[in-house]
Amino acid sequence: MKTGQSGIRLAKRLDEVGFSDIVQVRNKVMELRGAGEKVHSFHMGEPFFETPEPIKYAAMKALVDNQTHYPQSSGALPLRVALVEKLARKNGMRVTADEVLATVGGAHGLYVAFQTVLDAGDDAMIFSPYWTPIADLVLGAQARPMLVPTISARRNGIRKTLEQFATPQTRAIYYNTPQNPSGVVFTRAEAEEVAAFAIDRDLVVIADEAYEDLVYEGAHFSIASLPGMAERTITSFTFSKTYGMTGWRAGYVVAQEPFMTGLRKMVLYSTNGVATPVQYAMMQALKTPETEIAARREEYRQRRDLMVAGLNEVGLDCPPPAGAFYAFPNAEKIHKNSRTAAQILLDKAHIATIPGSSFGAQGEGHLRFGYAVSMQGIEECVEALRGLFV
Ligand code: PMP
Repeated sequence: MKTGQSGIRLAKRLDEVGFSDIVQVRNKVMELRGAGEKVHSFHMGEPFFETPEPIKYAAMKALVDNQTHYPQSSGALPLRVALVEKLARKNGMRVTADEVLATVGGAHGLYVAFQTVLDAGDDAMIFSPYWTPIADLVLGAQARPMLVPTISARRNGIRKTLEQFATPQTRAIYYNTPQNPSGVVFTRAEAEEVAAFAIDRDLVVIADEAYEDLVYEGAHFSIASLPGMAERTITSFTFSKTYGMTGWRAGYVVAQEPFMTGLRKMVLYSTNGVATPVQYAMMQALKTPETEIAARREEYRQRRDLMVAGLNEVGLDCPPPAGAFYAFPNAEKIHKNSRTAAQILLDKAHIATIPGSSFGAQGEGHLRFGYAVSMQGIEECVEALRGLFV
């Protein structure tokens, strides 16, 4: 007979892994809607437009043509070849088809990246506030998230700040630009500082470029395109935001050996590849003219400007975010504790947001408004905010 701990328990490495706060807000929103209440949804990160028709038809055609068999687990060669072309054209990254791997969305790409790089006991540096799942992905790899405050790093010098926060166990840096939730877009000079630090300390960079096409101020710059960085960077991209494909679960990672071997193993044993018809949709999405992507960016910019003006008007101080589709105002006027502030906003104005503290200690005092909604939706939200404050 066994003694001690019950066998009916979770693997210990899951003890510290959290479950998204965002889901809890979503449940509360559904409860209010179920009771017939109108809720202004600003808690989400979903593009405002539907998947374009040519992409949907490409998947339908693939199904009708019986492209329903096992995929190549790393992604079909024509897809990877199309990605190689895109990476050269848009990201300044010169890679081969063997250095690209299709994933089930950015979330999966990041999961396989952290699993491939981190050992138990390693530290991973994360600019904070950060996209909530990242700390959980690090913890799930039995490593320790080390939060680096983005605002003071930008003010005092990125490299100097990274040096202050580094430990002998530091193995990787998570580098997200444009950032969720703050909308920060790191400049090329900042990327160079991160790169110099990574090279000096022999660290791996896990770059997350989910919002590469949503930059309103400045330009997107891929850190892996810098000299000496391709071999120490795993870059994760997604089709979710640029092409309105959140539900398709389509993304890819870019890396060199030895990482590619590890990434391929992780993909093989987690999903065995991206669904075959989805790979056809991805190939079609890559044919989208840049003018179409730019036109949507302008639509996002209009939403950003309307949202930011409305927030500032009611005294929720919000500098315009340079990228992504989130506004991250200071919400201390509502309550110093961002969870309480979000609750008050939901109860009194039926506006659903995400408390800043969900994105790390450096997010406290803020709320995240995901403004990838209709212009009318933003106008109604601003009206509800006026009602709360006037
Ligand atoms: N990175 C960041 C910063 C994100 O905000 C998201 C989506 N919210 C992702 C990656 C992953 O997106 P997906 O899994 O839909 O590709």
